[in-house]
Amino acid sequence: MKISDFQKRIKDNFYHKDEPRGALKTFMWLVEEIGELSSSLMESDKKNQAEELSDVIAWAFSLANVLEIDLEKVLMDKYPQNCSCCQESPCSCSKK
Ligand SMILES: [Mg+2]
Ligand SMILES: [Zn+2]
Repeated sequence: MKISDFQKRIKDNFYHKDEPRGALKTFMWLVEEIGELSSSLMESDKKNQAEELSDVIAWAFSLANVLEIDLEKVLMDKYPQNCSCCQESPCSCSKK
C-alpha cells in the first residue's frame, strides 16, 4: 500500500469527524496518542507499543487531511533517498 492510499483510507473513514473538529483539536488527539505511546514504552508489551505507534501515525494522517497536506509528496521531498544534509546514505551527519 502506498502512503497516499493510507491517507485516503483515513480520509474516507474519519474526515467527516476530523474536518469539523479542526486542526488544533485533532492535534490534541495526536498528543493524547503520543502520551499513550509514551506509557506503552514504560511497559514491555510489544503489541501495545505497536498499536499505540499506529494510533500516532493514524492521527498524524488525520491532521494532514484537515490541513490538506499530501503527506506522501512532502515525505518524499523532505526525506529523499540520501540524507538531505550530508547527501549520504546512511547519514553521516554528526549534529545529532
Ligand atoms: Mg491509543
Ligand atoms: Zn546526514
